[in-house]
Amino acid sequence: MKILLMGPQGSGKGTIGEMLSNHLHLPLIAVGDVLRSIPQDHPWYEEFHTVMNKGELAPQGKVAQLLKERTSQPDCKNGFIQDGWGRKMIDLEYFDPGYDLVLFLKISPETTVYRLSNRRTCRNCNKVYNIITAPPKVENVCDVCGGELYQRKDDTEEAIRRRLAIFNSDTQEVLDHFRKQGKLIEIDGEPMPDEVFESVKKAVENISDQIEVNSRLEE
Ligand SMILES: [Zn+2]
Repeated sequence: MKILLMGPQGSGKGTIGEMLSNHLHLPLIAVGDVLRSIPQDHPWYEEFHTVMNKGELAPQGKVAQLLKERTSQPDCKNGFIQDGWGRKMIDLEYFDPGYDLVLFLKISPETTVYRLSNRRTCRNCNKVYNIITAPPKVENVCDVCGGELYQRKDDTEEAIRRRLAIFNSDTQEVLDHFRKQGKLIEIDGEPMPDEVFESVKKAVENISDQIEVNSRLEE
């Protein structure tokens, strides 16, 4: 089963993605991880790292190529959970593995602002915390490396709202596309992660039943 996870910043995509990955025993393919893990001797290493350090978007055609390679690895043969792709239709023209299910984690703009303004990042290893929902064990200290936590400058309310508006206009067409195909399920992302995950599990179970029925009809 190939699942695409979508949602605005602060929707808990990363957390839910990890939970779902453990639950279904399918790898979580996050675009950011794929980009960060390309080896130093890769011909695109320099280019990607320059772009990422500037906080810019990497060229989609090349990202798509890396995703194709990653998802053709043996661990993806039963499917995978994709995070961070398909924000625009052009992404899907470059790479569309035929998702069975698209989960959109829906939260209000106020929740995005609230969650992101509570976000803290480790200066040393870049691990992200939320001082309300996922605080470090010791205030302002990274659990992993002991580094100091700080609030990113682009996590101010104004900047968050601006990014959210861009995200909403970018994703509209993609969501409509998957809605027409009957693949889109919108999940209420407002509750705590455990509760959100229950809704996600139900959506996934319904789709697996459907896939099974369809494959039996085809036989
Ligand atoms: Zn750290």
